[in-house]
Amino acid sequence: MVRYDVIIIGAGPAGLSAALYAGRAGFNTLVLERMVLGGRVILTEKIENYPGIDKGILSTDLIKNMEVQIRQFDNVDILFEDVKAVDFNLKKVFTEKNYYEAEGFIIAVGAKEKRLNVKGEKEFLGKGVSYCAICDGPLYKNKEVVVVGGGDSAVEEALYLSRFCSKVRLIHRRDKFRASRILQERLQKTSNVEQILNSIILEIKGDKQVKEVLIKDVISEDLQSIQCSGVFIYVGIEPNTDFLKGLINMDEYGFILTDENMATSCEAVFACGDCRRKSLYQIITACAEGAIALNSLQGYLLKK
Ligand SMILES: Cc1cc2nc3c(=O)[nH]c(=O)nc-3n(C[C@H](O)[C@H](O)[C@H](O)COP(=O)(O)OP(=O)(O)OC[C@H]3O[C@@H](n4cnc5c(N)ncnc54)[C@H](O)[C@@H]3O)c2cc1C
Repeated sequence: MVRYDVIIIGAGPAGLSAALYAGRAGFNTLVLERMVLGGRVILTEKIENYPGIDKGILSTDLIKNMEVQIRQFDNVDILFEDVKAVDFNLKKVFTEKNYYEAEGFIIAVGAKEKRLNVKGEKEFLGKGVSYCAICDGPLYKNKEVVVVGGGDSAVEEALYLSRFCSKVRLIHRRDKFRASRILQERLQKTSNVEQILNSIILEIKGDKQVKEVLIKDVISEDLQSIQCSGVFIYVGIEPNTDFLKGLINMDEYGFILTDENMATSCEAVFACGDCRRKSLYQIITACAEGAIALNSLQGYLLKK
């Protein structure tokens, strides 16, 4: 069993940035990723708000570039294994197949899309209900779909779907969107996206596939059925931190609490990216925090 200097759990932008800094610092590093490199970035098509890339970049290219940059370092191993448990006192992480040891840990496990928790959502998952427009959107060419949510992700994905769906209805429970101004301006100019504000979904209905959603206007309380083939849900995120519950300080939603150096309540354990409580959940902050987490861990390891 190799004992690493650093184990990074999760290979989204936060984990990949920490891995880059670990590689350059010369630490023997293990990155453990349960799915594919890139995390939630690969759920969208194009990234337009990453500095220094004036025309934007395909998310797959951004992640490929990050991977190539990290693969230069032969002191960084990347393994595709799901971390199931940790014992920070014994300095071990356990995957479904193995366990690994290290002097310090960086948690970069990110988050997943929150569920709406309405009738029909579970039943029609994969049969019209989706949390990923880039994965499933092309199946709805020339069809009518509904997008739920009011933030950047919801508006971005509604715009993406508008390119091939005949009609997109964007349903938001409040009277205005939270999304950035530039996205809202694009929304106004996109004729096949209809905005339905002050409305919530009560039920998703269908037979083998989604056929309609039942919505309620929260002001008038009027009910309305909307025919659609797909429902794309972007109503916020929840952290992938279940396996850390009781081991590390978190807020009531499971987001890890850190200080400004990304230090958690456990010695030698740092957290970065969307799994921690913060105000801006984006690639730029995830990357910056990955760098800070590794720098803080480096400070800790050098003092030991
Ligand atoms: C549709 C959509 C559009 C977006 N558009 C933009 C945009 O235009 N610009 C922008 O800046 N941001 C955008 N974002 C947000 C951005 O994707 C996230 O803020 C960013 O990916 C967070 O990075 P992260 O590394 O913290 O987490 P994640 O990207 O979530 O990565 C976490 C990684 O950890 C892995 N993991 C989780 N648990 C375990 C475990 N137990 N063991 C091993 N591995 C594990 C996951 O598989 C994942 O690969 C968008 C998000 C979505 C969903």
